[in-house]
Amino acid sequence: MSNIVKKTETAFAAPALRLSRRSFVAGASALGALAALGVTGCAPQSGPKAADSGEEGETEDFDAVIVGTGGAGLSAAIAAYDQGLTNIVILEKMAVTGGNTNYSSSGMNASETKFQKEQGIEDSNALFAQETLDGGHNTGDEELVTFMCDNSAGAIDWLDSLGIKLDNITLTGGMSVTRCHRPTDGSAVGLTLVPGLVAAAEERGIPLRMNCEAKELVVNDGAVEGIKVEEKGKPKTLNARAVILATGGLGANQEMVTKYRPDLAGYVTTNQPGATGDGYLMAEAVGAELVQMDQIQIHPTVEQETSTLVAEGVRGGGAILVNAEGNRFFDEMSTRDKVSAAEQEQPGGFAWCVFDQQVYDNNKAIAKYDKAGIVVTGDDIADLASQIEVDPAALQATVDAYNAITTDGATDEFGRTEGCIAFAPGAMYAIKVAPGIHHAMGGIRINASNQVLDADGNPIPGLYAAGEVTGGIHGNNRIGGNAVCDIEVFGKNVGEVVAAALA
Ligand code: ADP
Repeated sequence: MSNIVKKTETAFAAPALRLSRRSFVAGASALGALAALGVTGCAPQSGPKAADSGEEGETEDFDAVIVGTGGAGLSAAIAAYDQGLTNIVILEKMAVTGGNTNYSSSGMNASETKFQKEQGIEDSNALFAQETLDGGHNTGDEELVTFMCDNSAGAIDWLDSLGIKLDNITLTGGMSVTRCHRPTDGSAVGLTLVPGLVAAAEERGIPLRMNCEAKELVVNDGAVEGIKVEEKGKPKTLNARAVILATGGLGANQEMVTKYRPDLAGYVTTNQPGATGDGYLMAEAVGAELVQMDQIQIHPTVEQETSTLVAEGVRGGGAILVNAEGNRFFDEMSTRDKVSAAEQEQPGGFAWCVFDQQVYDNNKAIAKYDKAGIVVTGDDIADLASQIEVDPAALQATVDAYNAITTDGATDEFGRTEGCIAFAPGAMYAIKVAPGIHHAMGGIRINASNQVLDADGNPIPGLYAAGEVTGGIHGNNRIGGNAVCDIEVFGKNVGEVVAAALA
């Protein structure tokens, strides 16, 4: 995990105030309505960059404030900067950068990429979009999905230009084409993406303010004109011509999770502690529409003691799921909602994710799981079976049957067609898994220009959002590898859109 020390801000010493402000008086009535919603309006600030305004603390002036240092926020800042918007700042309430993006393991789905072409993989943006919509049972926003898929190859190229090469391609559940792009060595994407993006932001001198928590949006005449923050315990107001919310999801906020999904009480979460849904509250308070908030994805392969997510790429690389009786029970490559539901019906509501040495060697994340002590290792099938307390004969029969479906013309009784490999004799491994809270698919409603929309579908001036905090793209089931595509395509896009709007 990346852990960066706050940069000094000499790169932006005394930036000129370039804010064009609306009349505060004209906005008084709108402000009154917003005050009822708990939104604080404040008179436009002018003057030097860091003026002290008493109880409200210092004020500072930026063109754009980006909230959140996950993939979406970092990408937004870099893209904006490269389009000439240099008076910007990224805020992070935690002491570490990267948010949940640090934990992204599968990769980034993208279609028609140069890497797919180099490797002879035929794909199309239309098919990617169709499978994304199908995966979400046609509840996703078609315009946003189409935009994401059409711009996915461009995002892969852009990341490559930043030194983040995702050319090792695999498959995730619900996709019929190998389009999940991972780092060259097959390692977890987040741990390449976050340090790569942080380095790119640092190279440009974009300030990252750690331990700086955004509290509430500043609104004037219906337009967002800044954000109130608490930085290392001190209140500040950051005036801005645009605010980009990239605050991620809500998975670490049990209260908010159960408000929208009471049935998820008590579930473990794969989310980092800062994923507390702040962005939804801040946006909602200024009239943003929240969509599909009950769509909280549970991931079927979460190790429960450590809340470690066992990447879908492990199954994509050949692993199977077996129950406490040593039997397979479902197509492991089906969508997350279906696999989770099937798992919950098994005795004890858990499964063993079982794989051989080839799967272990082909997925770098597994060594990390092993180091964390969650992988059970057996010399062979019988040894593994005795360690995980399943009937050795049953596990042997399960593996034999699985191996048989990898032969030409064979079919699987559970319908698995993707990512099947015959297990080789020798060492076998297992990780005990069950569903865990993983991803907020609902969130702030945006359009394809990342503008935050109100209940009437009108953009709220000055307010943009990108990444997990937004809603409606994935519908009621997100495909593995599509979160990184979402944060990269829309993160890059919002930076470019805001830079163009403020030019
Ligand atoms: P995404 O995948 O959409 O980029 P991440 O979860 O990776 O989302 O990153 C979101 C980041 O935003 C996290 O690092 C989180 O700690 C940070 N964050 C959340 N709420 C706030 C807030 N109120 N102020 C500052 N940072 C925040």
